[in-house]
Amino acid sequence: MAKSKKPSLARRRFLKGAAAGAAAFAANPQGGESQHAQEHDHDHDHQAVPSDLTLRVKALESLLVEKGLVDRAALDAIVDTYEHKVGPHIGARIVARAWLDAEYKRRLLTDADAAIAELGLGGQQGQSMRVIENTPKVHNVVVCTLCSCYPWSVLGLPPVWYKSTAYRSRTVIDPRGVLGEFGLKLAEDVQVRVWDSTAELRYLVLPERPPGTEQLSESELAALVTRDSMIGTRNVSSPGSSSQTRRK
Ligand code: FE
Repeated sequence: MAKSKKPSLARRRFLKGAAAGAAAFAANPQGGESQHAQEHDHDHDHQAVPSDLTLRVKALESLLVEKGLVDRAALDAIVDTYEHKVGPHIGARIVARAWLDAEYKRRLLTDADAAIAELGLGGQQGQSMRVIENTPKVHNVVVCTLCSCYPWSVLGLPPVWYKSTAYRSRTVIDPRGVLGEFGLKLAEDVQVRVWDSTAELRYLVLPERPPGTEQLSESELAALVTRDSMIGTRNVSSPGSSSQTRRK
């Protein structure tokens, strides 16, 4: 657990600073900055006023701890897990195994929960998983139109854009247009299927294995698989391809 202390402490300090910054801002929302500016030259960055969301999280956490409803250490352990331990590298291992083992792929596509559990992965939230396969004629993309349901146990934290209203609404209205904005131009004869995640059922895209990877090992294949390719907003690029970039 020694590893988890650093981010937890950093998070505590950030939240503490955020609360102090907000209190100062609330006390003098108009004049504080200009008065400060007149006092000395600016050779440093000012602390930005924290977002409403940060303040709400801090307030909620403090209240729950105060009432004894949550344990701070348990909360830190959960945050640490999703910030540092669970991530797209888990989904990438599943994809690489499926690319190499046709029988495993068949099991993955028919009973994803069991196939993922075979590798000792996933299954931390109790929801069901379904894996959907991209082919030369079918491209799948995942969205949650209602909120931000996402396969956390195999992909980690969702990207900011996945939770945005624009992505959630436009992906079902104009999937090709949205994919084009990610740099993914699909041929007209490729059918696009949009999958709407829910709290009970979450989707993972099995992307197509790119050409030029015939000699690669399972770990080398996994290293090619990006988070976005498992959401469906990009394809997996061949090794060394300049398009193999990641999007935050
Ligand atoms: Fe949701």
